[in-house]
Amino acid sequence: YAKSRGRSFYPRYHQAMNERRRDLVRLQSDLYRALECEQFSVVYQPKVCLQSGNIVGAEALLRWQHEEHGAVSPAEFIPLAESSGLIESIGEWVLASASSQSRAWHEEGLPPFLVSVNLSGRQLQMGSLVERVRFVLDNTGLDPEQLELEVTETFLMQDISQSLILLEEIKALGVRLAIDDFGTGYSSLNYLHRLPIDTLKIDRSFIVDLERSSETYDLVRNVIHMSHDLGLRVVAEGVETQVQLDMLRELACDEIQGYYFSPPVSPEAFRRLLAQQRVFDICTGRKESPVA
Ligand code: C2E
Ligand code: MG
Ligand code: MG
Ligand code: MG
Repeated sequence: YAKSRGRSFYPRYHQAMNERRRDLVRLQSDLYRALECEQFSVVYQPKVCLQSGNIVGAEALLRWQHEEHGAVSPAEFIPLAESSGLIESIGEWVLASASSQSRAWHEEGLPPFLVSVNLSGRQLQMGSLVERVRFVLDNTGLDPEQLELEVTETFLMQDISQSLILLEEIKALGVRLAIDDFGTGYSSLNYLHRLPIDTLKIDRSFIVDLERSSETYDLVRNVIHMSHDLGLRVVAEGVETQVQLDMLRELACDEIQGYYFSPPVSPEAFRRLLAQQRVFDICTGRKESPVA
């Protein structure tokens, strides 16, 4: 330690910075091995139709079980996977895993539902994306209409005309497209009508504010109305309370996804939820049976 208190701050600060950087480098190299070591898994979060109370979809979300650190958050490792280029193979693994799992559930005769998979901006930038999605569909036998791809608005806004070409190509495969985290980027409703999208997902940050801000309430109402005018389905992300649910029903939101109904769960647990179908009493919002 430096003798004076004033000077000691800097070495400690640098030490913390260096440790953080070292941790990230280490995590990144662990990420390389994670695929072959089978440390990844996919969990599923139900999307519930506000009219019927049925589960009509599921978002597939990636999980990483690190050998020492345990569960690492996607918010932490997805950016690392993107900067290292690993997201291309990891993303394809998620797509294949969710597609073959869904296909198996459809084959079993479980109620029909749409599975949604997230695509990172980096995946959208690789020239072979369309080929890869087609490859996965052919291989798993999943009906393209049962697959939805979620892309973030931030990516789309970077180069709208380029995005438009790519999205048209993806749509031509017969899959559905959703805009994820809507409202967090340079959100503009003006360009939406130009994009071949089916679904708009309102970001959780707006849902959180719904109860306490009338501006947010009005904004969400406008987004829903405009989306409906454009023929889009609207999904609210991160619904946690009965009050939020009631407000969203009032606003004619189509579907909700959030801890209120269920967190993301293991494939087995999701299968059980799907098999029970209509587990939610949509008028009271009460769960008719306990969620795993
Ligand atoms: P996202 O695509 O917006 O996914 C929704 C996130 O919100 C998930 O976090 C989900 O667990 C969380 N969530 C859902 N309902 C609630 C709620 O009621 N309250 C709160 N507080 N959170 C809720 P998760 O699984 O940690 O994923 C975070 C982000 O990581 C995702 O955001 C997505 O951007 C990215 N991600 C996850 N899996 C993948 C993947 O397979 N590929 C790519 N490219 N990105 C992924
Ligand atoms: Mg998503
Ligand atoms: Mg989202
Ligand atoms: Mg989000």
